[in-house]
Amino acid sequence: MATPVGHGLAGLSLLWLAGRFFSGLRPMRLAWLAIFFALLPDFDFLPGLLIGKPAAFHHGISHSLGFGLLASLIGSLSARRSTRRPTGVIFLLLFFCYSSHLLLDYFGNDARPPYGIPVFWPVTSELYLSPIPLFPGVRHVRHTDGHVYEWVRGVFSWHNVWGIAVETLLLLPITLASAWRQLIRRDQPENSKAAWSSWWSL
Ligand SMILES: [Zn+2]
Repeated sequence: MATPVGHGLAGLSLLWLAGRFFSGLRPMRLAWLAIFFALLPDFDFLPGLLIGKPAAFHHGISHSLGFGLLASLIGSLSARRSTRRPTGVIFLLLFFCYSSHLLLDYFGNDARPPYGIPVFWPVTSELYLSPIPLFPGVRHVRHTDGHVYEWVRGVFSWHNVWGIAVETLLLLPITLASAWRQLIRRDQPENSKAAWSSWWSL
C-alpha cells in the first residue's frame, strides 16, 4: 500500500489532467473531492478502529474495482447538483481517482499477510500484488489482529517517512506537470491568472 501523500498526489494529477472538463468550477472543491476518492479505499481502517484492531478489514473489498464503481456512482449522483456537470463526467473522475488508489497499492510493498488486494471483487476474491514493488509502502501492524497501540506506533515510523519521500519523488513531478498544464492553457495564457486567483475560492 502507498501512503496518503502518494494517493492524494495521484488524485490531484488525474483531476488536473482532466481539467478542461471542469473549467469554470471551483477548483478547491473539486480538488478535495478528487483527493477524498483517491484516499477512500483506506477508510476501511475505521470499522477496525471501532473494535480496537485497525487492520481487521484493511485491504478488503474496499480495495476492489467493484466497490469503486459503487462508491463512484453514489458520489457522482451526490455531487451532480453542486458541480452542474453531467453525472457521467463526475463519475469517471471519481472512478479514476478511486482506481488510482488500487494501482498504487498494487505496486506498493505489502508487509502484512494476506498479501495483495482483491482488485476484481466480486468477480473473484483472489488477491493481487505486483511482484516488483515501486513504492516502499506503509507499515503499521504486522498482523491483521494487531491492536491500536501497535498500529499508531507503526504509522509514526521512519519507514513511512521514507515511503512518503519516495512517493513524493516519483509522483510530485507528474502532479506539478498536470497542474501546469491545467493552469497555463496552451491557447489561453490569460486563463492562468484567473485560475490562480480563483483557486482558493470555495
Ligand atoms: Zn489502500
